[in-house]
Amino acid sequence: MFDSLSDKLDSALHVLKGHGQITEINVAETLKEVRRALVDADVNYKIAKEFTNVVKEKALGQDVLNALKPGQLMVKLVKDELTELMGGDAEGINLSGNPSVILMSGLQGSGKTTFSGKLANYLKTKKTKKPLLVACDVYRPAAINQLHVVGDQVGVEVFSDEGNQDPVAIARAAIAHAKENGHNVVIIDTAGRLAIDEAMMTEIANIRQAIEPQETLFVVDSMTGQDAVNTAKAFNERLNFDGVILTKLDGDTRGGAAISIKSVVNKPIKFIGTGEKMDAIDVFYPSRMADRILG
Ligand code: GDP
Repeated sequence: MFDSLSDKLDSALHVLKGHGQITEINVAETLKEVRRALVDADVNYKIAKEFTNVVKEKALGQDVLNALKPGQLMVKLVKDELTELMGGDAEGINLSGNPSVILMSGLQGSGKTTFSGKLANYLKTKKTKKPLLVACDVYRPAAINQLHVVGDQVGVEVFSDEGNQDPVAIARAAIAHAKENGHNVVIIDTAGRLAIDEAMMTEIANIRQAIEPQETLFVVDSMTGQDAVNTAKAFNERLNFDGVILTKLDGDTRGGAAISIKSVVNKPIKFIGTGEKMDAIDVFYPSRMADRILG
């Protein structure tokens, strides 16, 4: 992943990496290349421009032209700034509730159900929690079945109520069930639509208002480029979610989503999905992602 961005940044920075001598002109030219590479990787133009302006100011502020190794300093500045843009330090998930309720939101196909299973598995194995998965998609019986399959795979109980058309009632019943049965984390998988839709937004907003989850997470397919940013913006305006899950980072994605989403909604990216299997989940580390982008 990120091959094209990485390669382009590499070639843009090559001059600076290779030579001790750089001039203001080739700083500007390199940053122009960096900007082009970011835009090519689906980073919003405005964000890419702001990014290179900040790097340029810092470069001049640190007197990069007169530094002993200006190329290395520029590479560090670009990396630090990319890390900062993607969120600085890694952020965890709030597990302070009893039970802690985690509400999943996102479009259909974004990877919500798969991620719900992965998260349950992760919390069970890494944090010794006892999760409960909850099927709140009242429209697609196949979605309920899918969550049961995922739950079986990871050995986590799935709460569902086929035929019940009220997702708020299902979520409430699930939380009561969790309390009675010693589940300390409740992960609620909700219905998504193929595109942003008012009824879906109202439904998820109602669930959120009724159950007051510790975490509302927005799941987004990183392969969808600029659409991912627009979707994130629409969900955030309505839900004011707590964090982002970027899925399908194992695919041929260009990676701009990580940078743009964070800048546009200003919410932390908490986890990434890196495959279809239940263990293909990673905590999102901005500095690691920056390393990966820079190659
Ligand atoms: P939902 O409609 O949002 O619940 O999405 P699903 O969980 O059903 O996922 C949609 C498709 O994407 C399924 O075929 C999943 O196997 C696949 N998928 C989910 N997460 C990932 C991921 O991180 N990497 C890859 N390669 N595929 C994924």
